[in-house]
Amino acid sequence: MLLASTPIVEVIPSKSNPKIWLDSPNQRFSVKVAWEQLRIHNQMVEWHDIVWFKNIVPRHSFLLWVAVQQKLTTQDRLHRFGIHGPNRCSLCLRNNEDHNHLFFECSYTKAIWWDVHDRCDIPRMTKGWDEWIRWATITWHGKSFINFSHKLGFAATVYYIWQERNAKIFAGMARTSNLVFDQIKCIIRDKLDLMRNVLPTDENIRIQRA
Ligand SMILES: [Zn+2]
Repeated sequence: MLLASTPIVEVIPSKSNPKIWLDSPNQRFSVKVAWEQLRIHNQMVEWHDIVWFKNIVPRHSFLLWVAVQQKLTTQDRLHRFGIHGPNRCSLCLRNNEDHNHLFFECSYTKAIWWDVHDRCDIPRMTKGWDEWIRWATITWHGKSFINFSHKLGFAATVYYIWQERNAKIFAGMARTSNLVFDQIKCIIRDKLDLMRNVLPTDENIRIQRA
C-alpha cells in the first residue's frame, strides 16, 4: 500500500520554515496553533458582544456584523460605487434609501420596530445608528436571559428588514410589516423555547411567552 509505506515527513524548524508549531504544548504541528500564529490579531471591537454570542442564529449574526459597520449595499452606497439605479426605498417607496432611512426613518420599518418594542421590550430606534449600537453594547452587556432575548430580537429584526427589502427589489414580493413581525416573533419564540434550562422567574416566563 502506497499510503502505508509513505514515510512521515518531519519538517525541521529553520530560518526558511516558520516555527509555527513551537508554541504548541508538545511542539508538534496543530492547525489551531498555526492559525493563531498566522492570523492578524486585531483589537476586539466593543460591539462584538451584541453580534457574536452563543445561540444566535448564524445568518442573523453575519448580517448584523455587516450592518453594524454600515457596509450593507444600500442604494446610496451603490450610487457611490458608480452603480446607478433607482435610489428609492423599496419598502415605503417615498424616500431615498440609505442605511439610516432603512433602519430608522422608513415608515414601513418603523411599524416593525414598534411591534418589536411592544412585544420584546426593545426600545424604539430613535437614535442614530452608531449611537444606538453604542447604547445596546453598554445596556445589553452580560449573559442574562433578558439581554439574550433583546440581542436575539435586535439581530432578527435587522435581518428580516434587510431580507424583506431584498425580496421586494429582486423578487417583486411584498409583505405587510405585520407579517414580517410575525416571522421575527416566531424565530425569537422558537429560540427562547429551546432555552428551557433558564431560571423560571416571572420575567423570564413573560419574555418566553411574549
Ligand atoms: Zn422607506
